[in-house]
Order: sequence, then structure tokens, then C-alpha cells
Amino acid sequence: MGVSETGRHRVIVVGGGFGGLNVTRALDRADVDVTLVDRANHHLFQPLLYQVATGILPPGLIAPALRSITKRQRNARVLLADVQDLDLDRRVVGARAPDGRLLELPYDTLVVAAGATHSYFGKDQLAEFAPGMKTVEDARYLRDGILAKFEMAEIATDPAERAEWLTFVVVGAGPTGVELAGQIAELAHTVLPRDYRSADTRQARIILLEGAGAVLPPFAPKLQAYTKKRLEQMGIEVRLNTLAVEMDHQSITVKGPDGLETIRAGTRIWAAGVQASPLARMLAEKAGVEADRAGRIPVGPDCTVPGHPEVFALGDMASLDKLPGVAQPAIQEGKYVGKVIKDRLAGRQTPPFKYFDKGTMATIGYRSAVADAFGVKVTGFLAYVMWIFIHVLYLADWGNRLGTLYTWARALWLSKNRGNRIIAFETARQEVAEARPPTILPRRIAPTAAPDAEEAIPGAPREAGDAR
Ligand SMILES: Cc1cc2nc3c(=O)[nH]c(=O)nc-3n(C[C@H](O)[C@H](O)[C@H](O)COP(=O)(O)OP(=O)(O)OC[C@H]3O[C@@H](n4cnc5c(N)ncnc54)[C@H](O)[C@@H]3O)c2cc1C
Repeated sequence: MGVSETGRHRVIVVGGGFGGLNVTRALDRADVDVTLVDRANHHLFQPLLYQVATGILPPGLIAPALRSITKRQRNARVLLADVQDLDLDRRVVGARAPDGRLLELPYDTLVVAAGATHSYFGKDQLAEFAPGMKTVEDARYLRDGILAKFEMAEIATDPAERAEWLTFVVVGAGPTGVELAGQIAELAHTVLPRDYRSADTRQARIILLEGAGAVLPPFAPKLQAYTKKRLEQMGIEVRLNTLAVEMDHQSITVKGPDGLETIRAGTRIWAAGVQASPLARMLAEKAGVEADRAGRIPVGPDCTVPGHPEVFALGDMASLDKLPGVAQPAIQEGKYVGKVIKDRLAGRQTPPFKYFDKGTMATIGYRSAVADAFGVKVTGFLAYVMWIFIHVLYLADWGNRLGTLYTWARALWLSKNRGNRIIAFETARQEVAEARPPTILPRRIAPTAAPDAEEAIPGAPREAGDAR
């Protein structure tokens, strides 16, 4: 393994998510120089993004600055830059700084953990009408949109128009879709009714679409059945075996067991699919291997890229042992890769990566969740307590853990209010202008199509690129 001019081994880590941050931390005190490059300045705890989107948590609590997390790690530095090239021959990472300048970052060991992005299953034009949720900006955008629709319902005098503003359609009933639908229902049916005078927010329609025959497709049938029942008790319309086929700024057309139906809806949210970061495909092409259907790069049992022992790929963008695209594989692979790098420098062998399955869980709404851990299936309040414990435990930083517990106590248990409901006229104007053409140009641009994306939208076989 090579060394830098300073005599230290240079490790470049691309991505400060669950995978990249854990590699960086595992290298604390190692005799290496770590450069952590991310196009965001924070480590995002994605499992709680839906709470930002529904006004429960402020973004800062789930997105601490990478710089602050690593401040005591003397061998690590953080760069805010967008990685655009991985030159495996020259061993150089090419990244753009915020002012556009190109940074060339030479490495001895490269770790790429750039995560995943939305997949619209080949219908990328839908991104304009149904935004997804992957970043803090996405969640804030959704929150602004949801809150603006309630404001418009208060202003509207025509009952049909008001009903339209109060119709929310969530596409995809994986954990993220279930959690979002549940929180929108709580907002509309429990939190907001007394805040509005003309609009009866209890009349809000929340529709959850799922292409498969059950909600939470990867979960056990008992947990799926419980979740569906709870969602329906919360007033959510759950539509199974139903695909979103078309959308515009005012409506969504769905195809279900009863045929085609167009639903007028002020808000449509995409929670249906993911595909690996484009860096996975780039890395695969440069290494001469084939990315899988979800755009992930296959890696060896030690998380290295085939033919390149000095390059590691992990987390959502890598395919290893059919592990799902959730936090635990990324965290465990991150810790493992840090150990491999240290072992190599010390001339030691590391056994292949072994995944320890800690189970899965999802919240449905107030005091209600489902959990499947170590073969035990738990529903209701006990699952909710487990969910709280696990999520607080995995948040970075004690300040954020305490802040989150305090905010939950206030928002969910004591006042039943939401403390993060700030929108201004201009934001609301942008949000609703899209729903009322002729308007200003939409603010969001659809991402580029995945070359091998599928024809159908939700309902496609669920495995690698499954929605969270
Ligand atoms: C809404 C939502 C809810 C979820 N809920 C859960 C849950 O409840 N439980 C669970 O286990 N999992 C959940 N997940 C999945 C989990 O968050 C991911 O599996 C996990 O974050 C993957 O970690 P990662 O390190 O591979 O990628 P990420 O955590 O996504 O990190 C990737 C990092 O790379 C950076 N990056 C990307 N491209 C570039 C580039 N070109 N240049 C520089 N930096 C770049 C990004 O900014 C990001 O910081 C959820 C995901 C989402 C989106």
C-alpha cells in the first residue's frame, strides 16, 4: 500500500452517510490521513426525514455537521464537494468545489459510500409532480408543500377546490410511505383541526398506494395485516395492487383492481423506489464489472471492487450477499472496511464481512409501530417504544439525542403540536403555483433516467432497489 508525501497512507472516503462516516470513525487514531468528501456538510439520519417533512423535528437534530462529528478526530478532514470522477488508473478522485473549481484528490485507498437516490422506474417525468424524499432539502420542500396546501384549503371557498387541496396521495407503502401517510393523517386529523376556522382538516383524504398486494412488502404477513388495519383506523385509504400511471400538477391517475381512476389531489409524494448513486455505475464501468438492476456495484466478501483491492464500495450503492438497502448493512460494512484498512497496514488478514441482522421496524402513527427483531414480531405500543429507543440510540451526538427526545415529548405526547411549521408567503406561493397553472416554471427538475429502469411503477419486484 502506498503512502502520501507526509508519509501517511491517504484514505479518501466519498460520502458521509451511515457507511462513510463509520469507515472514518473506525480509522480514528490509525496511522492514515482520512479525507471525507461529501456534497452535503452534514450526516443525515434518513430514517427520521419524514418527521422533518411533517413538522415534528427541525432538520438540525437529524443532520449534524460532519465537521462537528469529526472535530476530535485529528487524522480526518472534511471537504464539501461533489465527486464527479473516480480515476482508478491514476488513483485520483475528481470533485467540484461549491465555486466550480475542480479538486484532484489522490488516494492510496478509496472508499465510495455515496448511497442511493430516487427511482421512478423509468418514468422520470413524474418527479416534477411527485417529489421524493432523500435529502434535508427534499423533506423541507415536502413540508412546505404540505403546510401550504392546508393554508390554501382555509382560503378556498369552493368545497370541491378545498377537497382537492386536502387530498394527499403517497405512492409506495414501504416503511417511508407508511410513516409519511401516518404522520400526514395525524397532522390533519389530530393536530390541525383547532387551528383552522374555515377548513375542516379532519376531512383531509390521505391515500396510500401500493403496487404489491400488501403494505410493508418486506415485512412478515402478521405485521403487514396489523399495519393496514391501523392505517385504516387512522382514516387512511390504503389501495393495494394499485399502480400510479400518470400525473400532473393537479391529479394522479391510478390503475387498480377496478381499472383506471383519476384522483384530483393537491399533493402527491413519491416513496416508491430507489436506485444506487450514479457513482456506483461509474465505478462499475471503470472497474469493468456490471452493475445490477438497481445500479449497484457488486463487491467482494471484503467489500472491495473486483480487480481493485485498494477500492472499497459499500452501503446502498454496493451489492453484497443480497443485503437490503437499509442502515445496518451500511453501518456494519463501514466499521468492517475501517478494520480491513487498519489490518492491511499492520500486515494482518481480515476475515470476510459477516452481517448481523438486527431486524426491521416501522412506525405507523401515534404510539403504534411494527418490529421484527431476532424472529420476534412485535406490534403496537411495545414496538413503538422499541422504535424510539433504537432511533435515538443511532442518532449521532448526545445533544441531538436529548433534543430529539425533548421535541418528541413536546410534539407527540404533551402539546400534540408540531413546532416546525414555518412557511412564508413566497414559499407557499411557489408550492401552490405549481398546482394552479398557468404558473411559474416548476422549481424541481427530474433526475436523469436509469438506463435499465423498469417500465412499471410501484409493484415491480421488490429486492435490491426496494423503497424504504
Ligand atoms: C426517507 C428514508 C427513510 C429511511 N428509513 C430507514 C429506516 O427506518 N431504517 C433503516 O435501516 N434504513 C432506512 N433508510 C435507508 C438508510 O437511510 C440507508 O440504507 C442508509 O442511509 C445507507 O447508507 P449509505 O452510507 O450507503 O448512504 P447514505 O446514508 O445515503 O450516504 C450517502 C452520502 O453520500 C453523499 N454523496 C452522494 N453522492 C455524492 C457525490 N457525488 N459527491 C459527494 N458526496 C456524495 C450524500 O450526500 C450522502 O451524505 C431510509 C432511507 C430514506 C431515504
